[in-house]
Amino acid sequence: MYEPTKHPRNKIFTYWIDIVGTCNLRCPTCPTGNFLDSEFSVGRNPTGFMDQDLYKKILEKIKSDNVSDRIEIHLYTWGEPLLHPKVAEFVTMTKKMGFFCGLSSNLNLDKNLKEVVKAGPDFFRISLSAFYQGNYKLTHKRGDIRIVKSNMYRLRNLLDQNKSNITVQVLYHVYKHNASDDLAMMMKLCEELEFDLDPVWAFYMPLEKSLDYLNGKVSDEDKKTINMLAMDPTDVSKAALPYRDEDCSLRKTQVTLNIDGSVQLCCATFDQAYVVAPSFIDTPHAELQRRRYSNDMCGPCMDKGQHIYFSYAVGKKLDDLGEQNLSKKDSKFIFKQFSKPSLVLRSSENADPIVLPRAAKKKQGLSLYRFKNKLLGR
Ligand code: SF4
Ligand code: SF4
Repeated sequence: MYEPTKHPRNKIFTYWIDIVGTCNLRCPTCPTGNFLDSEFSVGRNPTGFMDQDLYKKILEKIKSDNVSDRIEIHLYTWGEPLLHPKVAEFVTMTKKMGFFCGLSSNLNLDKNLKEVVKAGPDFFRISLSAFYQGNYKLTHKRGDIRIVKSNMYRLRNLLDQNKSNITVQVLYHVYKHNASDDLAMMMKLCEELEFDLDPVWAFYMPLEKSLDYLNGKVSDEDKKTINMLAMDPTDVSKAALPYRDEDCSLRKTQVTLNIDGSVQLCCATFDQAYVVAPSFIDTPHAELQRRRYSNDMCGPCMDKGQHIYFSYAVGKKLDDLGEQNLSKKDSKFIFKQFSKPSLVLRSSENADPIVLPRAAKKKQGLSLYRFKNKLLGR
């Protein structure tokens, strides 16, 4: 139940805004890749580009809602933002309003990259899952890691040319099979390019499919995908159960918008069935929150601890679950997302920890990037 008086102002409030409703890739852990037409209960949200005038009105509404002293806007949820021909203008508009602006890309394209660097978002994430194509193609379907690496060099060059201080994060999705040579090589590349490397456990998304799996419904294709994860969602759900009565940060501190300006229940859902308001600009914030807090999906989600899973709030227990599988695979690294050191060579557990590559300059507010992973596996 949402009662504004019981929900104090959040220190940070984040808007995930899909400015593109599709992606050039079809990753099997992402609904853009795994959600079949037959699996929608209502339908797919629009797949085109967000209109610039609509975005201007959205920014003005965010400004007037004024729900936090620190507003963060990320121009993606399930879409590839570089596909938008006006992506740089979206960044500029966001920055002009005084908001923090982030992007995430699979970087299989360099379209609009030069313009985006010039527009100067605060944060640019490159989301990937291997250094070599053999493993990359398993989890970034339709992608080519050689193109990604070439665009990483191009990005470094553009940053240097523009004397840009954009924080670049390489979000490395850890599966059972890629915590060895692929990770070691990506670490070297990030060192050379002075990009932050942040390994994270890979998830199976979206919520609709994750709940189906927990209820025993899964296709052979999705089962193959789940088998690649370092942790089975069933085990994570069990680990999350002690926290299931905690509020969901995905609704408490975040709002997710589709390209047509409609509001999705949260960034974990994909089906149009979970649109809670057709128009963000016409719906007061308190009303939006009231609709979200009374949505029928939240009960089953919280009963299975999914809101805890997707916000990474299970913490160190995830590391324990992941390690059980990585050790069976004899991975080169022991990986811990939630404690330090996060990477240790398995063959020398007592040796000095590995220091992950970090950009030399000071980073600005990265709290939610580490939190989301987006979520949303992005
Ligand atoms: S995970 Fe990212 S790159 Fe892959 S299909 Fe989804 S949005 Fe595209
Ligand atoms: S409780 Fe679950 S369905 Fe509801 S907003 Fe949170 S993650 Fe989404």
